[in-house]
Amino acid sequence: MVVECRDTSELPLPSLKPVAGCLDATPLPTDWRWLCRFTARYYHHALGDTFHQAMPVLLRQGRALEARTRERWCATAAGRQEVPPGLDRAPRQAELLSMLRQHPHGMVSQAILAQSFSRDQLRALVDKGLVDRHEEPLMASSSVEGDARLAEPALPLNREQAMALAAIHERLDGFHPCLLHGVTGSGKTEVYLQLIEAVIGHQRQALVLVPEIGLTPQNLARFRRRFRAPVVALHSGLTDHERLDAWEAAASGRAPIVLGTRSAIFTPLARPGVIIVDEEHDGSYKQEDGLRYHARDLAVARAHHHRIPLLLGSATPSLESLQRAFQGDYRHLRLTRRASRHAPARLELVDLRGRRRQGGLIAPVIETVRETLAAGHQVLVFINRRGFAPTLACHACGWIAECDHCDARMTLHRQPPLLACHHCDHRRALPDACPECGSIDLRPLGSGTERTEETLASLFPDVPVHRIDRDSTRRRDALEQMLADVRRGDPCLLVGTQMLAKGHHLPHVTLVVVVNADAGLYASDFRALEHSAQLLEQVAGRAGRAAHPGRVLVQTLHTDDPHLRLLAESGYDALASQLMEERRAARLPPFRFLALLRLEAPQESSVAVLGGLAAEALRQRIGERGLEVDCLGPVPAPMERRQNRYHLQLMLSADRRSQLHETSAWLVAWLERRPDARRVRWSLDIDPQTLA
Ligand code: ADP
Ligand code: ZN
Ligand code: ZN
Repeated sequence: MVVECRDTSELPLPSLKPVAGCLDATPLPTDWRWLCRFTARYYHHALGDTFHQAMPVLLRQGRALEARTRERWCATAAGRQEVPPGLDRAPRQAELLSMLRQHPHGMVSQAILAQSFSRDQLRALVDKGLVDRHEEPLMASSSVEGDARLAEPALPLNREQAMALAAIHERLDGFHPCLLHGVTGSGKTEVYLQLIEAVIGHQRQALVLVPEIGLTPQNLARFRRRFRAPVVALHSGLTDHERLDAWEAAASGRAPIVLGTRSAIFTPLARPGVIIVDEEHDGSYKQEDGLRYHARDLAVARAHHHRIPLLLGSATPSLESLQRAFQGDYRHLRLTRRASRHAPARLELVDLRGRRRQGGLIAPVIETVRETLAAGHQVLVFINRRGFAPTLACHACGWIAECDHCDARMTLHRQPPLLACHHCDHRRALPDACPECGSIDLRPLGSGTERTEETLASLFPDVPVHRIDRDSTRRRDALEQMLADVRRGDPCLLVGTQMLAKGHHLPHVTLVVVVNADAGLYASDFRALEHSAQLLEQVAGRAGRAAHPGRVLVQTLHTDDPHLRLLAESGYDALASQLMEERRAARLPPFRFLALLRLEAPQESSVAVLGGLAAEALRQRIGERGLEVDCLGPVPAPMERRQNRYHLQLMLSADRRSQLHETSAWLVAWLERRPDARRVRWSLDIDPQTLA
């Protein structure tokens, strides 16, 4: 990639390469190049690799942008007759034709397909001579496509929604970051939709980031229903061609609304008007390998660069965003009430101590499940472990099935039966007897989704049980199909992992059961509590979203835990304020900035030696420069051995970002210079979200 031209270079001539040819006369979009440079600088990542990762695959492979065309379909004179011939028995074709007749300049394929018509229908109309197909160059046109009118009317906003929208509206032409902090079901999406309406009305584009489109096809459908203008969706299911098309449509300004997951932050925009980040606290915005960027943080930088409004939405904002809202850097917009009748349910803590569990559930909870089903409602059982049981143990000698390659236990699966390591994906057949003592008394320890599903199916044989986790939804559409069943409203049981917690609107669920809330309470990671509270609140938010109020039962061994009690009694906001004070006192983010160097290699000694040298060099450098940066470590990673590699970490922390960056840049240069660093895989994580 040619990013700049110079007459001179400080590099020796042999290391410079001549330009052999020009693949593409269309320059890459300016805003995109700016974002890549910013990202590379901020995350101390190689610029070339940043460009590479932020680029659609086909461009990476050398395809030219300008050579591409697209199809446009117009009704012919015959197609414009009062009663076009040959459509008596083809009602969809008739509908399609009538839509095309409303567009004197025709419509492009993408806009037509977005209205759920098919290529076959288009071809059939062409064969009948009712429609013509034209090809036109893609990069030529640059006006925003579709009209700004709505396909479906907007909902009348309630007072809080209207105030939030008005506040953002006050300044659509400057950097204007807002945190839309609204309880689950308070109608944040409706605010997004109306904001987008205003933005596309001004001939500007809206970029909307969502955690995982595959998990929330409902949301995408809601966007598509609302606007006449096409909504371009970027998700993992696209082909390379579709991805490039979407990229071009956004870059040329034709696509008014672009909706996508994490990597969509790198979509170029010709006329940016707003960036919206839904569920801004969600962990999926952080890329956890290679270029370790955070899409939400890049959204802030990007909105600032474009001087446009930024809307971060969540029922459970990250402490980072809350802190900025408290400080006044972000406008803090609150939605405290649900659009529907019932307030979100409080968490009821249920003591697990000394109680017999069946599939993870204790008798009184099972009783409440029974009553809820009998009343004709649905029940959601949340359990954050897939598989049958977290591990397999020998009842005679205490042996536990562990992974040969990691410091981790293996999960027992029944469908199909095997032991699997969820950290390295290593699989093993189930042993017939204990490898230590030969006993055949091997028992599953604890419960995963499969076991809870099995128990519930035997307890409630007449009620369908839907299990929703990564294993049950591997097939495309499996999730959507299950959710469609659930939305029909008959009594049923949903058992699932956090896939179920994310944004689904399940109007008939009135009872949510959390099988075990304890995993995050005593974890070593300082963000564990925050993340676990967010998850609990999101899961709880699935209950009672429509006609009937909801209940949330949370099983725990620690009913006295002060954090859990605060969450249960006063809600996420109260807990977040408390955690904020704890972070302030402990000098942790968001009050301090972190960078984490991870080192890994097959030999323990090579990581230990390099880690020690790096720490020593860093401390010396920090001293020489008089920086206020702390260097902690090296220490073994929480899981020291993973996939037969040893993992070590070094943590940098500073009050001032500039000093953290200076030190990070120096560290990267130091590592790149050292020949012994080549035998070790290393990566620097700026603003790490997890210390794992
Ligand atoms: P959130 O994104 O905050 O979780 P949603 O936007 O999904 O909430 O809204 C929850 C439900 O409330 C949806 O079914 C939505 O159609 C409905 N809703 C939102 N705003 C309004 C409103 N102003 N009037 C009536 N219903 C609304
Ligand atoms: Zn044994
Ligand atoms: Zn493993």
